[in-house]
Amino acid sequence: MARKNAWRTVEAHRDDGGATCPWCGSSDITGDSVDYDSDCIFQTCRCGNCQAVWSDQYKLYSYQPITKGVDKGTFELSRIRNKGGPNGQI
Ligand SMILES: [Zn+2]
Repeated sequence: MARKNAWRTVEAHRDDGGATCPWCGSSDITGDSVDYDSDCIFQTCRCGNCQAVWSDQYKLYSYQPITKGVDKGTFELSRIRNKGGPNGQI
């Protein structure tokens, strides 16, 4: 892909899913380990084609429920039961 001599916009990089270099457009990119602070997860990425380095930044945008919680009374009852024998008997 032809080099445009400018960083791609954040919107364009997002639309691309961060799958290509925001400088040259190459898909020859690698990411360092993921790091985070109090409100952002980020990952330093590098392009194997043009050597550009940038940080992809992630914020929570949704969640998917997986397992419901138990109400407090049920939870405490199961703890009492689990203090019994190995099979949970008191
Ligand atoms: Zn590049």
